[in-house]
Formats: sequence, structure tokens, C-alpha cells
Amino acid sequence: MSKLKKVVILGATGSVGSQSLDVIRDHQDSFEVFGVTANSNVNKMLQICSEFKPKYVVLADTKASSLLKEKLKSLRLKTEVLQGDKALQELSSNSESDIVISAIVGSAGLKPTLAAIEKGKRVLLANKESLVISGSIMMDAADKCNAEILPVDSEHNAIFQCLPSGYKVGVEPNSVSRLILTASGGPFLSKSLTDLGSVTPEQACAHPNWDMGAKISVDSATMMNKGFEVIEAYWLFKVDLEKIEVIVHPQSIVHSMVEYIDGSMIAHMAVHDMRLPIAFGLGWPARVKKAVPSLDLHQLSKLEFIAPDVKRFPCLQYAFDALNAGGATPAMLNAANEVAVAAFLQGQIKFIDISKIIDAVLQHFGNYKAGSLEEIMIADEKARCYADAVVRGRNIG
Ligand code: NAD
Ligand code: MG
Repeated sequence: MSKLKKVVILGATGSVGSQSLDVIRDHQDSFEVFGVTANSNVNKMLQICSEFKPKYVVLADTKASSLLKEKLKSLRLKTEVLQGDKALQELSSNSESDIVISAIVGSAGLKPTLAAIEKGKRVLLANKESLVISGSIMMDAADKCNAEILPVDSEHNAIFQCLPSGYKVGVEPNSVSRLILTASGGPFLSKSLTDLGSVTPEQACAHPNWDMGAKISVDSATMMNKGFEVIEAYWLFKVDLEKIEVIVHPQSIVHSMVEYIDGSMIAHMAVHDMRLPIAFGLGWPARVKKAVPSLDLHQLSKLEFIAPDVKRFPCLQYAFDALNAGGATPAMLNAANEVAVAAFLQGQIKFIDISKIIDAVLQHFGNYKAGSLEEIMIADEKARCYADAVVRGRNIG
């Protein structure tokens, strides 16, 4: 009998985390849940622990973790509860696990993801923000520590599948002329700039094709998500920025494409369901049976491809600009976006203010130089403070 692969899920109560648990539930002959983490959702974590009986659980929130401990004890469940940032990093680098799924949202995912990489783990990367922030630092660590990063973001997973067999993430692929990232265009694809002024958080979170956490849903609506994915593709696949393109494809059936120097274009198609890239990463290089239903080609009436409109969705352009600027600018872009999206979700600013706040931060700091992770984190903090001041002052312009 083959040994079960032990999996740690960072962000197990979220959208990607829950879908990772779905895949493991369907393939208990291959994988087991070794550890799970979340911010503060005690009830959901209790359900997860009851069903999957992981060895460890980490909650970032102190009160929530004490409550979970009590509840687990009363149910006579043996999962050990740990608490705080240090525990999070210890669990992601625990030598007993085989695979770490990085599915925390935002910059909180950076340190645990890096900890897993530095331990040479297979890391299924969903938390794109950590790569946007740390860029070459994360990729160099993966190279040095022999970690295996497998992209879970559906576009990057698609590109990985379209690259030649034996391709290793972080290495420049041969004979590639373009990487074409598809974008659904989000819920506001056909809204005018004037209409975008009055959209609500509920509307922004109602993505037409994907059921995701609130933050990435808003990022999809502004197309900041696609901007982050450009930066993510740049680091994962080591191609020049000029070779990365974005095309809007509202049906989300073609998940991305690779064009080769002879003019061949290889596309990855499947139903839009995150369980596919998750299962792919868990099983790689073997394929996991029936991770998602087959794509019914007879049901597809059309596949559209439309150029993105950076006038209505300037965040996409900011990502290209930030990557060109280099240094800490991508981290500051991410930090400003996190503050702006949180403010929008809390009803403090309008949807169209998100891009204005990001622009204000990038204009204010210019090309901010930083080399080490410490310097980047200082820049991140400065960008957050400035973005916060812009939100509070409502001096958005
Ligand atoms: P989500 O909001 O549904 O879940 C986030 C998870 O992170 C939760 O388990 C939450 O408890 C945990 N978390 C939040 N803040 C934390 C903190 N401070 N400390 C520790 N844990 C914390 O988000 P999601 O939609 O699952 O997205 C997760 C990541 O995956 C994001 O980086 C997103 O961009 C990426 N991603 C998501 C999808 C998707 O379909 N949802 C697709 C591609 C990439
Ligand atoms: Mg994506």
C-alpha cells in the first residue's frame, strides 16, 4: 500500500481551503490532512477537525484558539491547537508534512509560505499576494532550498500544463513567445465608468464564474487580480514582461495559453472549478481521477476574446508599471490595494476610489528601492499608512 501524502492547508476555512478539503475527501486513499490553519472561524474549524482529524490546527486569533481548544476537548478530539504567527510558520515548515497548500488571503500568507519553501516542501501556491510582495526573494529561496512550487491559481496552473513536459517552475521555458493570461473580466465587464461609481460590495463580490473569498472577488472586479497574476506569471515562469499578455475571456473556459516561437498556441480548457488546479498540484506528476466534471463541448455556444480596457480598469496597468519600477513597488501596490479593498468592503469608500488610492500611493512613493525582505516590509508598512491616511482624509481626487 502506498504511503498517504500528509497535507497542511494554510487558510483551510476559506474558499480555496474548503475546495482543497473537498479534493482530499474524494481521495483519502492518497492524501491525509496533517494540519490546518485559519484566522478565527471556530465553528468551521471544529467541523474540519471533526471530519479530518488533523494532528495540528493553528488559529491566528488568541480568543478563537482558546475557544476551539475547549470545544475540541469536549468532543474528545485529539487535534493539538496552536496559536499565533510563530505557530503558523512552525506548522508550515513541519518536517512530517509532504505538501503545503498556501491559501491564506493577502500578505498574512507571506511568512508561512516562505517558511514552507525554505523547508523544501511542495508548495501549492494560491496566495499570489506573497509572490507579488517578495518576488525574487521567494523564487531564490525555492531554488536554493529545492522547494517545488506548483501554481494553484487557475491561469498559472493552465500555463504550467501548456509548457513542455518536465518544465520546472522558476526556469525560463524554451521557445516560448507569449504567455496569454485569460481574465473573466469580473462582474463589471460591461459597466460604464459612470456606472462603476455606484456599485456596491455585494455586487462586486458576485463573480459571474467563480465563488471566491471577498477580497479576491473585489480584486477580480477591479482587475487588480489580473494585474497581480501578471506579476505572479513573471516570477513563476521567468519570461520577460513584454511576453506576458492579458485577454478578457468572459466564459472562463480557456484558462490561459502559451504561444511558441513557431506560432503554435497551446490552450488549457476545463470547467471553471478550483478543485482542478488543486488536485493537479496534489497529484503531480500523476493525474487525479475525475477532479472535476468533463467539459461539455456541445454546451459551449461561443468563446470570446476581448482586449482589456485599462481606462475603466486601471489597476491592470498599475501592475505592469509596478513590476517595471521594481524594488518595493509591487509590494506597495499590494499593500495599498489591501487597505483600499478593506475600506470598500466596509463601505468607507466607493469602488472607483480603490484604483485612485492605489495610484495616490504609487505616485507618492515613486520607485521605492528595497532589496531585503525587511526593507520590503518597511515599504509595505509605509504604503499601508499612506493609503489609510488617504482613506481617512477622503482626499482621493
Ligand atoms: P478566503 O477569504 O475565502 O479565505 C482566506 C483564508 O485565509 C481563511 O481561511 C482565513 O481564515 C485565512 N486568513 C485570513 N486572514 C488571516 C490572517 N491574518 N492570518 C491567518 N489566516 C488568515 O480567500 P480565498 O478566496 O480562499 O483566497 C485565498 C488565496 O487564494 C488568496 O490569495 C487568493 O488571491 C488566492 N486565490 C483564490 C482563488 C479562489 O477561487 N478563491 C483562486 C485563485 C487564487
Ligand atoms: Mg486566477
